[in-house]
Parts: sequence; C-alpha cells; structure tokens
Amino acid sequence: MDICLKCGAEPPLISQICHKCVRETVVISRLPEVLRMVDCKSCYSLKIPGTWLEFDSVESAVGHFFESSIIWHDNLSQQKTDLTLRQLDPSKYRVMAKTRANYGGLALESDLEQVVEIKYQVCQTCSRHAGGYYEAILQIRTKQKSVLDAAVEKVFKDIDSSPAEFFSTENGPVKGGFDFQLSSTERARALARELMIQFGGHVNETNSLVGRKDGRDLLRHTFGVRLPSFLVGDFLLIKEKVYQVTRLDRRKAKLKLMESPYTKKMVEIDTLRNPNILDDSLNVQIISSREDQFLLLDPYTHQTVEAVSPPNWNGKRVEALRFGNETFFIWN
Ligand SMILES: [Zn+2]
Ligand SMILES: [Zn+2]
Repeated sequence: MDICLKCGAEPPLISQICHKCVRETVVISRLPEVLRMVDCKSCYSLKIPGTWLEFDSVESAVGHFFESSIIWHDNLSQQKTDLTLRQLDPSKYRVMAKTRANYGGLALESDLEQVVEIKYQVCQTCSRHAGGYYEAILQIRTKQKSVLDAAVEKVFKDIDSSPAEFFSTENGPVKGGFDFQLSSTERARALARELMIQFGGHVNETNSLVGRKDGRDLLRHTFGVRLPSFLVGDFLLIKEKVYQVTRLDRRKAKLKLMESPYTKKMVEIDTLRNPNILDDSLNVQIISSREDQFLLLDPYTHQTVEAVSPPNWNGKRVEALRFGNETFFIWN
C-alpha cells in the first residue's frame, strides 16, 4: 500500500505526499528579491518590455505589477490574489497579498509582503503630447455641413476608441472643412480611406520634408479628403426630377428615381459637384382620391393640389419635398 514518502502516513496522498505534509512543505507563491517598476508620471502607464500599459492610477499600476511579479508553484489551478496597498512615500508602496490556489484538490494559501519601488519617467505618448507631436494632417473638405459634421464625428469617435498613442494634437474648423493633426501617419491614411468608403469622394495624399533623422528624410503627410455634398438618404433634384441617394462608394453614387418607373443608376460623384439638395421631407395629408386621381394638401403652402399617383400605386404614405418655390411629392 502507498504511504507518505515523508512521514509514512496513509492515503489520501498527492504525488505520494500526505495532505498534512503538503500543507507544511508546498509554498504556492513567492516573489523576486527586488520589485522595481517604471511608471509614467503623467498618465500612470506602466512600462513593460516593448511597450507601456495604460492605468488610471499609480495604485492600479502597482497592483498589476505586483500580481504579474508573483512566481507561482507548479501544478496549481484557480490562483487568486487579494492585495492591500499602503503608500510609504510617492515612490514606494508596501503591498500585502493573500494568495490562494488549488494543488491536487487541496486548497492552499500563503501570504506575501514586499515593498514596490517606483521609478518615474514620461512615456512616449505623454512626451509626444507635450511636444505637440504629429505625423500627419487629415483635411476633410465638403460643401455640405451635415456631411462635414458626420465625418468629423466619425474621426473623433475613432480617436476616442483608439489606444492612447493615437491622438490628435490639434484640430478645428477651417475654411471649407475641418483639420486634424494626428500622431500616426498610418492611422491617418486608414481614416482617410474609411471616410472615402463611407461617404464617397476621394483622397489626395501629399507630403513635405520636415527634417532628417538617422540619415533619412522625415516626411509629414497630408491627407486631403474631399467628400460629396450629400449623404446616403438625401434627395437630389436633377433636371427637374427627384432622386434619392441609396449608396455611396468612393467615386460613385447610386441614385434611385423617385417617380415611376423608379429606375436606379450609378453616377460619378464628380458630376454632382453642386447638386440641388432638397430639404427634409414632410408628410402629406391625402384629402381624397379616386383611382389614380388624388387631392393632396401641400404641407409647405397649405393649399390643396391635384396629383396623379404612379400607375398601380398601392402605398400608404405620400411625402413632400421642397426646393425653391416648388413642392415635389414622393409616393411611398
Ligand atoms: Zn506525510
Ligand atoms: Zn504617459
């Protein structure tokens, strides 16, 4: 029969050692002799090999550093750590930790306590922020405010959801559009491309020499994004006919004729440089109808208008769009 190799006790055994001897001999966690970390003094990011990890406070950076420094015994599962931090001075924290883990079905605990020393530096992102660093300029240009607002909002959203190293040093409205100074050429190029895919239009990339580093030219890139004057869903008046924009992709717009026979066509956005964009549509009250003869109330003039519906129209709603002094009816 198996017995404990240390004391001769009978099973249950874990790796031929009884539970009592396991508790006396297995130490589940320990720490290196020195705990020294590098933290950014302005954003609390923790320096780890190759990069910086973002944290909201020194305490959370210290906690992460301490936990990731723990050296665990082999063959453990369900490791857990409870930390208590006490600041000794701005660059020293005493950390007490209760560690728990499962070893061969046995729950074991051990306490750790050590001082973490902090060396403060400034991370790359913070030093770039402070220095007004930027690699690229993204210029958004369009004649239509609604298009500009939507594009600018998209860029801000992208910056907000990106890691800290992608930021806008400066940004603001300029004549004809909006400019962003951005910290990454690569991200600026990707954003310009995404804007073009979402809103249509085209991108013009230029660069200028801003200096030399390590024997190579340093270039600053400018991405000029020219967007159309309309968005998907807008109504355009082309040669006295109303079209709705149903799709935009780079240089092409898909338009749907809003009267019978409701044909669709692709057009080059460049041919629609100064389109007549209709105001938002209003609902139309149908006064009476007889077959395809309708009496409608024009919501802009409050006058009744005789109109003929498209052939075999069995829709329910009529909408009105206004351009200049003229009202156009859309049969939905
Ligand atoms: Zn034993
Ligand atoms: Zn920082």
